[in-house]
Amino acid sequence: MRNHIAFLAGPASGHINPTLPLVEELLARGHQVSYATGEAFVPAVSAAGARPLPLPWVLPRPVVSKGGQTTEDLARTLLGFIEQSRTVLPVLEQALTANRPDVLCYDMMTTFGALIATKLGLAQATTVPNFASSETFSLQALLAPRDFDPGHPVFRQYIAARRELTIDFGLAPEQFDSAFAIAPLNLVFLPREFQLAGDTFDDRFHFIGPSLGRRAHSTDWRPPADGSPVLFVSLGTAFNDRPDFFTLCANAFAGTAWQVAMAIGETDPARLGAIPPNFEVRPYFPQPTVLAHAAAFLTHAGMNSTMEAAHYQVPLVAFPQTPEQALNARRAQELGFCRLLDAGQLDSDLLRQTVAEVAADQGVRASLAAMAKHLHAAGGAAAGADALEAYLR
Ligand code: UDP
Repeated sequence: MRNHIAFLAGPASGHINPTLPLVEELLARGHQVSYATGEAFVPAVSAAGARPLPLPWVLPRPVVSKGGQTTEDLARTLLGFIEQSRTVLPVLEQALTANRPDVLCYDMMTTFGALIATKLGLAQATTVPNFASSETFSLQALLAPRDFDPGHPVFRQYIAARRELTIDFGLAPEQFDSAFAIAPLNLVFLPREFQLAGDTFDDRFHFIGPSLGRRAHSTDWRPPADGSPVLFVSLGTAFNDRPDFFTLCANAFAGTAWQVAMAIGETDPARLGAIPPNFEVRPYFPQPTVLAHAAAFLTHAGMNSTMEAAHYQVPLVAFPQTPEQALNARRAQELGFCRLLDAGQLDSDLLRQTVAEVAADQGVRASLAAMAKHLHAAGGAAAGADALEAYLR
């Protein structure tokens, strides 16, 4: 049977990218796919073949104080999401009412996926591009600010705003919490072997692993013709304004045998000084294509980057920018394919030495090969489409 499957995810590469191969697979099976996201990602979801449902949605930056996120930072971030829901929800409601899907697959990080599905009585599934949470394992609790205090005045303000939004949206206040119960189907883009407390998750969770789809076939970058080993450097798409770090990389790897592809995101290249001749610097590279040829990846350890590196069996050296990325890096290190840098100790000699060691480490290669097997066995987009079809039956 053909179905209409609607996706909803925030306008961010880390949330949209892993869903695109699933979109492609569902379309190949004859389903109709629509995709609600911020305007900036309409080209990406359209290229995958989905019918875009553009939303007035730009992700606000999470508030993080120097020294780590506090309760007040967290509350202000959450308040920002609630405020934004007020603009986005009516547009989303109209789009989903005009062309009602058989199921809404929403990114588990969206505040309003569950709300809109509850209001419209839609079947629900989530897409999970990071560690999954259940009733027994909570990523949120692991990442909570050290000083977390639900009685903090700004946190209470957030709870009140959330309640008001729920009522204004036509739901009973308690429906906010019930809307956030675990969905009957959750598609997690990592293998169970990488998930923390993986064996505690029941069959509502499908650990399908990462898929690359057509992103794997970009020809917008070519490996060096002379066969030099490639080092890929990237801090991802969200927290990448780090001219100090990119300058450190330029100093560490200038004049070495490495050919360095360095994705600097929004960092102004003028702030990096002279770029060494063995460097290619761009805001953004076709990451899967570069990883397919890379001997090492100096990374922030975003979950997608970590999984993509495991897919191509590229050793990781991690320089995380957020607590969540640090958690991913620690997990990859525990499983033997990543070395976590100590930002406090870092200098260019240590950086160069660590990358050389990790790239040459046979133990790291063996751990990568084992993880790649798990990724393959997880089934990727085809397994995700099977699970969705079974759910819709
Ligand atoms: N990405 C890319 N080119 C770049 C930087 C990032 O294609 O130069 C992609 C990467 O392949 C991944 C996503 O953007 O799919 C980043 O997600 P991740 O979870 O690693 O980190 P985030 O950007 O969310 O911090």
